[in-house]
Amino acid sequence: MLLGIVGAGLSGSVLYSLLKKTGFSVDIYDHTLVRGCKSSIFFFNNSLEYKNLVTVLKMCGVNFKDYIIRDIKNIIVNGDEYKLKTMIILCVDKSKLIEDLVPRTVVIDREISSATDRYITKVTETGHLVKHSETVAELMNYKVLIDCSGSAKILIPGSKKYDYDIRTCQFLVKFEKDIDLDNSIIINPLKIRKGHTIIEHFRLYPLADNNGSTIYHACIMGYKTDLELWRSLEKILRNKFGNFERLCGCNFKISGSIPMESFICGSYEKRYLFGCGESIGLTDCFGNGNVYSILSAYYLFQAIRKYDINEAINIYRSTILKKFKYLNYEKESIKKGNMLSIASILKSKLGITFPNAMKIILSSLI
Ligand SMILES: Cc1cc2nc3c(=O)[nH]c(=O)nc-3n(C[C@H](O)[C@H](O)[C@H](O)COP(=O)(O)OP(=O)(O)OC[C@H]3O[C@@H](n4cnc5c(N)ncnc54)[C@H](O)[C@@H]3O)c2cc1C
Repeated sequence: MLLGIVGAGLSGSVLYSLLKKTGFSVDIYDHTLVRGCKSSIFFFNNSLEYKNLVTVLKMCGVNFKDYIIRDIKNIIVNGDEYKLKTMIILCVDKSKLIEDLVPRTVVIDREISSATDRYITKVTETGHLVKHSETVAELMNYKVLIDCSGSAKILIPGSKKYDYDIRTCQFLVKFEKDIDLDNSIIINPLKIRKGHTIIEHFRLYPLADNNGSTIYHACIMGYKTDLELWRSLEKILRNKFGNFERLCGCNFKISGSIPMESFICGSYEKRYLFGCGESIGLTDCFGNGNVYSILSAYYLFQAIRKYDINEAINIYRSTILKKFKYLNYEKESIKKGNMLSIASILKSKLGITFPNAMKIILSSLI
């Protein structure tokens, strides 16, 4: 049985690697060779989640520890500093990790599609590419298709699938003046908008050191336009930290879908369709999804490996709903503006004390 994966990001690359190593016939597609930002943070709710992820990546033949750049110890929220307790936060060289999982270094026939103004590629281990028009036709030959396209959710059915998505803007920056943020992450300000599922916020954390100065990753998420976010990010950085040099910048979006309301998997238009990672809403209320995309790829791999495809659908759906129940809870709580639940989320996620969490919520709930 030939499987087709659309999207060679984190979930797609992990799934591809696991299936390929087990002898499945599988193709993976992507429309770009760009692998996003050089680094990213991995939020683990506890040490078990961390151990599971290390094991999954080991099965793919990579050692997760080789990709860790920094171990974040403190979180500064609205000026108050909190020490991490159960949560583990690591800065990871995500692009290198993806590259090592599914190398796509050989580029042939790369073409820009005039319709979408974007590059389209077919990714294989040797980096062969196909054109955009051929991709759509070729996908129709797969009996089993897996949507790993992240917030694009290109194969996921449903007219409301983008309803809760949040826009983002991110820069890599160097500051003129030294800022004292060694192994900490700043989250500030933070806004909870009732009716939406992701908390609007600004975050800043240190990445690699480069010629004696540190490069920082700055990101803002909000229910605003890309231009507004770009300007807000510039303003926050300048007002709080002084002059900076922007090394690169881009706008993206993050899926705010609630997993319980997502398609997840089923038989659709005469073929079997599975969603994995962010395409089925596996992001938390801060828009983090790296860890969940890797773990969901593993759950899907296990379902496909162990069961016939009809059974795999039921097993995978119930596994996702069970394992990521807390993501439903988080997003539902934010959507309803439920202050007590939000306070308990801030406490368990960031270690913020209950009175401080209530103070933050009262000043930020819109
Ligand atoms: C600005 C920003 C900052 C973030 N910061 C963090 C963070 O610090 N920590 C964290 O845990 N999470 C973070 N996230 C979320 C995290 O990046 C995602 O949840 C995670 O990468 C999801 O993995 P995925 O494999 O499901 O999708 P992705 O990694 O997004 O991969 C999707 C792939 O599909 C491809 N694709 C899209 N459309 C098509 C198409 N039409 N045809 C073919 N291929 C297609 C894309 O090119 C991409 O390679 C952030 C997201 C953004 C946008």
